[in-house]
Amino acid sequence: MTAIVWIRRSLREYDNTALVKASENHETVIPFYVVDENYFKEAELGFPRVKFWNESLKDLKRKLSEKDKKDLIIRKGKPLDQLNKIVEEVDADKVYHNRDYTPYSRERDQKIREGLGVPVKTFKDIVLHEKEEILTNSGTPYKVYTYYKKKWFDREKRRPQEPQTYETPDLESDQIPTLEELGFEKPEDFNWEWGATREGGMNRIEEFKDKIWDYDENRDYAWRDDTSRLSPHLKFGTVSIREVFWEAERMKARNPNDDTDGIKIWQEELAWRDYYMQILWNYPHEVDEPFMDKYRDNEPDWESKDEASEKWKAWIEGKTGYPFVDAGMRQLKKTGFMHNRLRMVVTNFSCKDLWLDWRDVHDYFSKMFVDAEISAMVGGIQWSYSIGTDAQPYFRVFNPTSQAERYDPEGKYIRKWVPELEEVPDNHIHEPWKMNKLQQQDCGVVIGEDYPNPIVDHDKERKESVEKFEQLEGK
Ligand code: FAD
Repeated sequence: MTAIVWIRRSLREYDNTALVKASENHETVIPFYVVDENYFKEAELGFPRVKFWNESLKDLKRKLSEKDKKDLIIRKGKPLDQLNKIVEEVDADKVYHNRDYTPYSRERDQKIREGLGVPVKTFKDIVLHEKEEILTNSGTPYKVYTYYKKKWFDREKRRPQEPQTYETPDLESDQIPTLEELGFEKPEDFNWEWGATREGGMNRIEEFKDKIWDYDENRDYAWRDDTSRLSPHLKFGTVSIREVFWEAERMKARNPNDDTDGIKIWQEELAWRDYYMQILWNYPHEVDEPFMDKYRDNEPDWESKDEASEKWKAWIEGKTGYPFVDAGMRQLKKTGFMHNRLRMVVTNFSCKDLWLDWRDVHDYFSKMFVDAEISAMVGGIQWSYSIGTDAQPYFRVFNPTSQAERYDPEGKYIRKWVPELEEVPDNHIHEPWKMNKLQQQDCGVVIGEDYPNPIVDHDKERKESVEKFEQLEGK
């Protein structure tokens, strides 16, 4: 009895649900990965994400092949062709894989189910709760997070599991293509700061254990960098969602007398992750259109990146003249990551101040984020654009200066990512354009030359954007 475990984004052996289940029922199990090189040409991918994928796939291959009678078999080609081939080659009885919820994966997996000559068994793995598992009392999917969250915490969650003993026979395996072969080059001036391996993920969990206690207080302060940075590991499955959830639970249980608000608030982020994943599953239209019905046929007249090329360029280059926004966009460009507070600030700005089309923002983030995840990204962008599920109301507009004053009061984050403002004193760091010539000279920056003047007037843009939304609302 031989099973194929088709591995996609759960790049680990431990608590890989499809692998665990296959090992319970079969002695011969073939962990199998298909590299579809066409995908790399067609999808919106960028260096950070492809590098993380490449390193974690190589790591899994290495780890399994070092074990006695185990391996990860790699084949290049189309998933259906390669799965059919391996099934025939080893006379497999079944194919196991974990479920994914994006429109692309759904379509692909449907074709696999229809096109394979053996049964396919699929499993929940990448989330704690999926699809229609948590519904309203009238049986519909939740569209408001707060109510969803309550039930999410009440539901039982499976604990992580080791696979049973299994063996993988010696089989031919293709080389994992290099980034160069796939057409990806490290961008100039880019800092690769990820341990994209299982150990890298476990280290992040360990390091975060000291920070999680105060997560509720510190998570919004971009300069502190006190969030877990587990997002790419959860995206590629170098750690499992159950591992991180239960590790947090263990910490609560071991310290029953301590204040555990930080842990609870952090677990709420995991609930957001599941929430957006079930939204994507139940309302896949949100990938191309506003989630909110009222804006679907009546969408604000955003400007495309070509129509607004100057504003677009300033935004992606981190040269808008608003230091907090620019710091966020430069952190992204340099590292493939952006702190959550900044993700909100820069997308509020791209919407309410620059009126840029959210689809262009989405494509750009998809290329740039190391942790790019459609569900969370569409959720986050449409939240800021006031067109998404449980979104920020259109009349609440982030002020990029007061956000900075609140979450980066001394400008530490700004100075780190916008070095030309390094010497600007605290009282001017959030509005450097207000310095007079002498003050500019004193701190070695000429506004308008070394660092731009604001490209828009926030107060004016805020007013206009609210008016545009009000018109659409018929007010
Ligand atoms: P932590 O604060 O330590 O949170 C723990 C985990 O919870 C994260 O790793 C992530 O898996 C999950 N999580 C946290 N916040 C959210 C959230 N708001 N929605 C869904 N899941 C969340 N997250 C992505 O993983 N991929 C994306 O492509 C992505 N795009 C975003 C775009 C915008 C405009 C916004 C506002 C948010 C986006 N997020 C995205 C959510 C969030 O910003 C990141 O998950 C978080 O910054 C990752 O850092 P962390 O691992 O240190 O998070």
